[in-house]
Amino acid sequence: MSETHELILEAKHVTKKYPASGGRTLVANRDISLNMYRGRTLGIVGESGCGKSTFMRMVASLEKPDQGEILYRGKDMGKLKGEALRQHRQNIQMVFQDPSAAFSPRMRVMDIVCEPLLNFKRIRKKEKEAAARKLLEMVELPDDFIWRYPHNMSGGQRQRVGIARALALEPEIIICDEATSALDVSVQAQVLNLLEDIQKKYNPTYIFISHDLGVIKHISDRVAIMYLGRIVELCEADEIYK
Ligand code: ADP
Ligand code: MG
Repeated sequence: MSETHELILEAKHVTKKYPASGGRTLVANRDISLNMYRGRTLGIVGESGCGKSTFMRMVASLEKPDQGEILYRGKDMGKLKGEALRQHRQNIQMVFQDPSAAFSPRMRVMDIVCEPLLNFKRIRKKEKEAAARKLLEMVELPDDFIWRYPHNMSGGQRQRVGIARALALEPEIIICDEATSALDVSVQAQVLNLLEDIQKKYNPTYIFISHDLGVIKHISDRVAIMYLGRIVELCEADEIYK
């Protein structure tokens, strides 16, 4: 894999600790090392509380490791500050389990999907409607949905809006943190298919987090299994049941 695919992100001996009750320390991630390649999907599976989301927050540069480093295209992201850090965050976007919790109920779909574009001054206000229509097309939603509010949509449609918003900045890496976990099985399959089609067209790298081994096996090229803050196994997806 390393010969045919471009390496874009390397985690090297990443450890993250949090203060816990009674003055103790909780080691949420312990000595995690792995590589991510352009256009590929890394699945991360493990029980609740094993440190999956903690690791993702560091990959997304929302938090910094206590030890170790995360290199993006060879550069240590832990050293970025201020505006350089803000700019870098455009490269890595996230899709969450419950997008409605992340969306303001008073924002229309158009405003939700265009917010990152306006924040980073990629478009002007008057270009919003056209940009929103284009993003909805990418996630196969009817373009008149730009006028809708999140509460007037189904769970699957809302998750498509979450994906459209994540795509807006054309990130190199998209992190899906339990992104389909709350959906019915048939809707979940549709959203997974959409994510696969998007990867074929635009070649983003995915990190797919789930507690559902079936989903992980279906969508991933490689799978990391986490347990109590460590990666206990890293293998090709088709080796996972061995
Ligand atoms: P997962 O996503 O696999 O369910 P998390 O990464 O959310 O796991 O959490 C890993 C461990 O770190 C848990 O024990 C959790 O309580 C703890 N943890 C996560 N974030 C914080 C934080 N900001 N402060 C203190 N403890 C945290
Ligand atoms: Mg989590």
